[in-house]
Amino acid sequence: MIASTPFPTRFWHRLEDGRVQCDVCPRACALHEGQRGLCFVRGCEGGEIVLYTYGRSSGFCIDPIEKKPLNHFLPGTPVLSFGTAGCNLTCRFCQNWDMSKSREMDILASEASPQGIAEAAERHGCRSVAYTYNDPVIFLEYACDTAEACRALGIRNVAVTAGYISPGAREQFFSCMDAANVDLKGFTEAFYKRLCSASLAPVLETLEYLKAETSVWLELTTLLIPGENDSDAELEQMCAWVVEHLGPDVPMHFSAFHPDYKMLDVPPTPPATLRRARRIALEHGVRYAYTGNVHDSEGDSTYCHACGHLLIERDWYRLGRWGLDAQGRCEACGTPCAGVFEPRPGDWGPRSLPLAMGKA
Ligand code: SF4
Repeated sequence: MIASTPFPTRFWHRLEDGRVQCDVCPRACALHEGQRGLCFVRGCEGGEIVLYTYGRSSGFCIDPIEKKPLNHFLPGTPVLSFGTAGCNLTCRFCQNWDMSKSREMDILASEASPQGIAEAAERHGCRSVAYTYNDPVIFLEYACDTAEACRALGIRNVAVTAGYISPGAREQFFSCMDAANVDLKGFTEAFYKRLCSASLAPVLETLEYLKAETSVWLELTTLLIPGENDSDAELEQMCAWVVEHLGPDVPMHFSAFHPDYKMLDVPPTPPATLRRARRIALEHGVRYAYTGNVHDSEGDSTYCHACGHLLIERDWYRLGRWGLDAQGRCEACGTPCAGVFEPRPGDWGPRSLPLAMGKA
């Protein structure tokens, strides 16, 4: 176990009653000296909000970028992924709860400086670093310092987040990122309130901000939970909102839930539900819609929205046929495919390779 060293933070203010409010996310935790926020990794110490997980990770792994999931951002390339502990949401269906719900700092086995992470990514040929596993919003200072070190080496940065972040912190956080996969967990306030103790509106604001005011490449993921967020009506509303507010080029991933954490009594998502969601998205004008967490090569692959030509064939995380030209256009009809592409795909394949930072 590595000792907690409080790291000073920027997004907070003092309240008249003497407490200090963290302004990183809409929870707006108002804390007395010595208290921790809901995420448990930020707290009030010395009259300020500090971060307790700076420089400490729950582990590193080199993954295919498709695993984040990002299907339109440097396909086939390896991404160095890491997370810390804690989360600012309390999702009952969390699929990563051992890290995100941890209040035990002893899961933070690896100590790694921002520079050390960037150098490890470079050494291992990673094209990007992903801030993932738990929500990077809560370790914003560590993520942004690491992202800066990465950019200096030409390595890009990827956020995997629920987008539950306040405006000031949002600007700083996403200014460091090149791509984001944001969880759109459902499309009703009731879902967010009952299952995540949160609110949908700030997430939608984050998505609109990302599209309107940044150049961050954006993809969305929705974990479909049987009986909770998978009705035709909710999916239709969600997809219509995405096309109207974010445009047709934002890829949507519909992924399968597996019983976990506090939702062990709900069955896994049937593959037919994922295919139905994908069909609804396509019918509503979403150009790129995917199924995830199931074996479905058709639902995993990318097709030209203009002529239907197969652009990127996928089987789990393995790439097959490549139908884009060197400029990222359909080789059959010349229509550009939205995303960040290079003349050739990467060749990392489906491997995930855990990395011990000490030996990195
Ligand atoms: S980041 Fe953590 S401490 Fe800050 S408001 Fe959100 S939950 Fe509270």
